[in-house]
Amino acid sequence: MAEGSNGDSKSKIHRRIPNIKFTKLFINGDFVDSISGKTFKTIDPSSEEVIAKIAEGDKEDIHLAVKVARKAFDHGAWPRMPGCERGKVMNKFADLIDENVEELAALETFDVGKLFSFEINIDIPSISKEVRYFAGAADKIHGKTLKLSSQFQGYTLLEPIGVVGLIIPWNFPSAMFVLKCAPALAAGCTMVIKPAEQASLSALYLAHLAKLAGIPNGVLNVVTGFGDTAGAAVASHMDIDCVSFTGSIEVGRLVMQAAATSNLKTVSLELGGKSPLLIFDDANVDQATDLALFGSLANKGEICVCSSRVFVQEGIYDKLVEKLVEKARTWVVGDPFDPSTRQGPQVDKKQYERVLSYIDQGKREGASLLIGGKPYGEKGYYIEPTIFDNVTDDMLIAKEEIFGPVLSLLKFKTIEEAIERANATTYGLAAGIVTNDLNIANSVSRSIRAGMIWINCYHNFDSGCPIGGYKMSGFGKDHGVDALEKYLQTKAVVTPIYNSPWL
Ligand code: NAD
Repeated sequence: MAEGSNGDSKSKIHRRIPNIKFTKLFINGDFVDSISGKTFKTIDPSSEEVIAKIAEGDKEDIHLAVKVARKAFDHGAWPRMPGCERGKVMNKFADLIDENVEELAALETFDVGKLFSFEINIDIPSISKEVRYFAGAADKIHGKTLKLSSQFQGYTLLEPIGVVGLIIPWNFPSAMFVLKCAPALAAGCTMVIKPAEQASLSALYLAHLAKLAGIPNGVLNVVTGFGDTAGAAVASHMDIDCVSFTGSIEVGRLVMQAAATSNLKTVSLELGGKSPLLIFDDANVDQATDLALFGSLANKGEICVCSSRVFVQEGIYDKLVEKLVEKARTWVVGDPFDPSTRQGPQVDKKQYERVLSYIDQGKREGASLLIGGKPYGEKGYYIEPTIFDNVTDDMLIAKEEIFGPVLSLLKFKTIEEAIERANATTYGLAAGIVTNDLNIANSVSRSIRAGMIWINCYHNFDSGCPIGGYKMSGFGKDHGVDALEKYLQTKAVVTPIYNSPWL
């Protein structure tokens, strides 16, 4: 990979250091200390230095946040106001996000090591679009009228489900925040949001913007803290009606168990993946190379849908590998504030060590290392973009989610073989197909058991396009009208029609 800026004292990078104003819990419209008074440190992954101390919420803080959210739901204006009024406030929230793109982008880069250029141009602008999408949906929530069999008629009402718990991961902190809260707000729910402990800053900043926009106190609450304390308290709380969770399978299971043994709240789980990218012989080699690199290495591989298994048909294999290595050498690792950087540091020490241990495992299992395979630079959690050749389906690196910049190449002969091997996983989050043959594209996309299929593209997300898993990648969708449905429940109302001679 190309030499980056990490540790290069001569580089002239504009590090847009954000102004960290919010580090406390956001409950009932105020920023408050945790009840215990405890805090935890959040670290800049590119320097390993402490950025700020964040209030550490626990069970009691979740309880307090749920209490105010409950009151706002049972007695407050938000669930009762006309949808168009909620939409107006949400559009104001979107305007404020647009006005604060640079600050939010800087927070994400500083706190999580995401590329500043991506944040400012793509990620943060996309979240205001998401809010606007659901603002537009808020006044289009309708039930149905029902003609019933005997002399009765009925109708259904779609009502907000109640107080929702939103538990989110660290890899796209702002996007995940909005992905969860925007449909819940549109539905008329009130909520307690538990951001990942590695990435609290943007969540608190967004809470501040929500308040400025006019979202009433108690409707949107943010409790920062750890998963096994604050997160677990959300999942098991008797007064939360629905939990929407994005994160690992392991924790998803715990969330489901907690819901089952508490109040049987509804649960939706967006979990991990081991997504295949299938490159067929007829594909354009340059396009396939770019998609393989982008699919696997974008956001340092910290994307649930990343194409960590790249299946390549034997006729194009050698050409593709050659191009892949050539292009991977130009993949710049370094300071995420530097516009020329393609890959910043992994989010924290734990993830960094986890990814490196998978790389070691790949070497031990006999996969051939084509490029990378080591930490990068003197400080910060940087890892070289890594490509393994001769990977077999039974290797751990081909089976488990790595969540790092590691691409595994697997060779196949026939279309049937590609489908069978792509599906031979417990995951089913996403897949990509690279081909110019319409029949291959159509038949393979129907045969892959995954919730999202990209044909000749990858990582294309849109507010209107539902995303979510098959199999152990979870259930329930984010984005699109499907997401809104998670936060609504159907009430049927039935009434007789007396003495009608026409029925
Ligand atoms: P994680 O499961 O460790 O944590 C996710 C969230 O759950 C965090 O807020 C954490 O504090 C909380 N949590 C941890 N333990 C908990 C518990 N016992 N009860 C309740 N909450 C708890 O996942 P992560 O490391 O933050 O994120 C990486 C994982 O998320 C990967 O597996 C990735 O694939 C997945 N992910 C999935 C999607 C998707 O849309 N499917 C998107 C992003 C990330």
